[in-house]
Amino acid sequence: MSTLKNASSSPEQAPADRPISLTAPSGIDRAAHHRLDEAWLAAAWSHPTTRVFVVSGGQVLIDDGPDGTTELVMTPAFEAPVTETHRYFLGTDADGVSYFALQKDSLPGRMDQSARPAGLREAGLLLSDRDAGLMVHAVALENWQRLHRFCSRCGERTVVAAAGHVRRCQACGAEHYPRTDPAVIMLVTDDQDRALLGRQVHWPEGRFSTLAGFVEPGESIEASVAREVFEEAGVTVGEVQYIASQPWPFPSSLMLGFFAQATSSEINVDGEEIHEARWFSREDLAAAFESGEVLPPYGISIASRLIERWYGKPLPKPGDVI
Ligand SMILES: [Zn+2]
Repeated sequence: MSTLKNASSSPEQAPADRPISLTAPSGIDRAAHHRLDEAWLAAAWSHPTTRVFVVSGGQVLIDDGPDGTTELVMTPAFEAPVTETHRYFLGTDADGVSYFALQKDSLPGRMDQSARPAGLREAGLLLSDRDAGLMVHAVALENWQRLHRFCSRCGERTVVAAAGHVRRCQACGAEHYPRTDPAVIMLVTDDQDRALLGRQVHWPEGRFSTLAGFVEPGESIEASVAREVFEEAGVTVGEVQYIASQPWPFPSSLMLGFFAQATSSEINVDGEEIHEARWFSREDLAAAFESGEVLPPYGISIASRLIERWYGKPLPKPGDVI
C-alpha cells in the first residue's frame, strides 16, 4: 500500500512528481483519544499483532529486505525491552495494528547481520511513508522529552504522561505539550526566473541552498518569509506560494516550503547568517555544477526538492559525472 520513496531508484521522475521526504501521510491514525486510557494502552501493548521499535538518540534500526526495500525493524511487544515510562504510543493502522516506540539509552543488539542503526537523514530517504512517519513521530517525541525534563512554570522535575505526548509537573500540576517550531524555507525567484541561493557562514565553499529561518512570535508565515529574505539577502519579496511542509525534529522544527517572487534584485547579504548569495539562471546553475563551483544539494531536505522543482530536472548527486 505504501509508496516507496527510495530516491536512488527513481531519478527519472519529473521533479514536480517526486515525493518530498516525510511529507506524505503515513497511513497511521495517531488515535490521540487512547493516550490517557491506561486500560486500552495495556491491552494494545500486550496484543500479539502490536509492533514495537526502539528509538535512541534519534536513531532506529533499519533493515534491507530481499526485494530491495528498507524497513524499520519492529518486534512484537513481548520481545521488546519494556521501559514503562518511556513508551510512546504512536497510533494504529487500518488493520487495527498498534505501534509503539520505546525510548532507550541505546539501540538493542542488531537483530541480524543486515539490520543497522540509522538517523532520519538516511532512513527518511529509504523507508516507506508508514515507517518514515512512525520514525519521525518517535524521534520528535524523544527530542522533546529530552529537552523538557523540568517544569517551565515552577522548575520542578516533570514526568511522562499520555503515552509520551505530555509531561506533567507533579509539584504544580502544569501539563506541558510537545512543541513544534515553524520555520520557513523559500526558493526566491526574480522576474527573469532566476533563483536566489545563499551560502551560510559555516557552510563549505560552493554549498548553496535556499534561504530559511524561524517564524518569530506574533508573526504571520508570509511576513516571516519576507523578513527572512530581506534580512539575509536584502531582497524584497511579494507573492508567496506555499508548496509543502516537512517535519524536521531537530529538535522540533516544521519546515514550511515556499516559492517566493522577488520584487527587487540587488543583493545585500547580512554577513552573519549568510556569507554570500547569488542569482542563478538554470544555465548558470548547470554550468556551476559542471565546473564544481557549486556543490549539488542532495538528500532529504525540502530545500533540495524546492530547487529541483524550479530547476526542472533531477539535480546531480554529489560525485556524479555530469
Ligand atoms: Zn511545575
